[in-house]
Amino acid sequence: MARIGFIGLGRMGGPMARNLLKAGHQVVVFDIVQPAVDALVAAGAVAGFSAAAAAKDADVVITMLPAGEQVRDAWLGQGGLSKASRADALLMDCSTIDVATAREVAAATGRPFLDAPVSGGVMGAEAGTLTFMVGGDAAAVERARPVLEAMGKTIVHCGEAGAGQVAKLCNNMMLAATMAVTSEAFVMAERLGLPAQALYDVCSKSTAMSWALNSYCPVPGPVPASPANRDYAPGFTAALMRKDLGLAQQAAKDAGVDAPVGALALALFDRFVEGGGGGKDFSGIITMIRAGQRA
Ligand code: NAD
Repeated sequence: MARIGFIGLGRMGGPMARNLLKAGHQVVVFDIVQPAVDALVAAGAVAGFSAAAAAKDADVVITMLPAGEQVRDAWLGQGGLSKASRADALLMDCSTIDVATAREVAAATGRPFLDAPVSGGVMGAEAGTLTFMVGGDAAAVERARPVLEAMGKTIVHCGEAGAGQVAKLCNNMMLAATMAVTSEAFVMAERLGLPAQALYDVCSKSTAMSWALNSYCPVPGPVPASPANRDYAPGFTAALMRKDLGLAQQAAKDAGVDAPVGALALALFDRFVEGGGGGKDFSGIITMIRAGQRA
């Protein structure tokens, strides 16, 4: 079993670190929020008094932080993880961050470094069923596999450094745009007198089928487990979706790619978040679309 330094014990990192403990790994944890550390110590982890202390002596060092700025600072800043960790340690970041920073950090560590963002949300983190999209050296990915398998059930090696982030941003751009247009269709059907259940019954089995419709339907009823049935309690918040859409547009721009549908999805989620919907599930975008209709 490995000794793992885990930094960032929020809604995702907390349950991920717990699953590493459950799998029998020794986990040394750090977060700037003390209660998050205390909760993990109660579950069997050891508290590091700094990120560097949590990484020292670890076989594997993992970060799960809010955004690129924190990730760069944690790895490359003063007293950063890159210097603090063992020369032969396996290094990885599971946060969702911009592609440029993921590549910069991987190159600057000068060692095998994986970007391994996840999908599956807090429920997936708790259940240990996350999907990991991994960028970096193939041998390092194989070395990481047993550790990732303690936290997830699907591990896909996407390519070189940054490829995991590219996959994550492409996935969420497709998901957001699909959810927005699915919501428009349900509102249109409502206005034209087509019951939501009938629209679902047809489209979930026809060419319009999608995860947004079939598994995460934005109206209550057809899919009992979808957030629509609990007033759009998250799930995956609209604020995080907006963040990922912003990162996707940045990545598209840097690559010289025109992605107008993704840009429109970003504009819609911007408006929803600015209007107070940030804490709602992203499928709650339907409430804004419905409210925006002419009387
Ligand atoms: P969160 O805000 O709940 O957790 C982040 C944690 O990092 C917090 O506990 C915070 O105190 C800690 N932190 C911040 N700066 C730190 C530092 N310098 N050193 C140590 N700890 C620090 O966020 P989350 O929901 O756990 O998300 C983490 C990452 O995973 C984000 O990049 C997010 O986009 C991504 N993600 C989240 C979800 C989700 O459903 N929440 C799903 C997929 C991916």
